[in-house]
Amino acid sequence: MEKRDLYKDKEVVRKMAQLMMQGAVMLSETCPICGLPLFRLRNGDVVCPVHGKIILVSSEEEAREVEVDSIVSEVEHYAAKKVRELLSQDRPSEILEWLRVIEAGERIRELREKRRRPAPPPRGRSDKGKGGEK
Ligand SMILES: [Zn+2]
Repeated sequence: MEKRDLYKDKEVVRKMAQLMMQGAVMLSETCPICGLPLFRLRNGDVVCPVHGKIILVSSEEEAREVEVDSIVSEVEHYAAKKVRELLSQDRPSEILEWLRVIEAGERIRELREKRRRPAPPPRGRSDKGKGGEK
């Protein structure tokens, strides 16, 4: 009953349209709370038009993946805070160490991202660089 009502809600429809205009993709999965179709944003986040960000967990393995993701971003966040702290204390050598931590975190995320969705072959979007190879 309630699900139908949500579909009729103009505000909800407007939000869905907005999401799609932003380049979000409608998924076959639905929101566990309201049953509306979920959308995947360009940054990979999955959102419900009503409830916002949803973390889809369909298996134990995925649950672990989500956990690792959040740990990695926590570490990065911590490192970033550390860098700011050290900047104010004028200790550049230690800053470098924390920057490495951030870099490693980014690399881990990149690798995991690639593994999750086998990337389509990158389309050369310009030929301007051609001939200029070393
Ligand atoms: Zn929802």
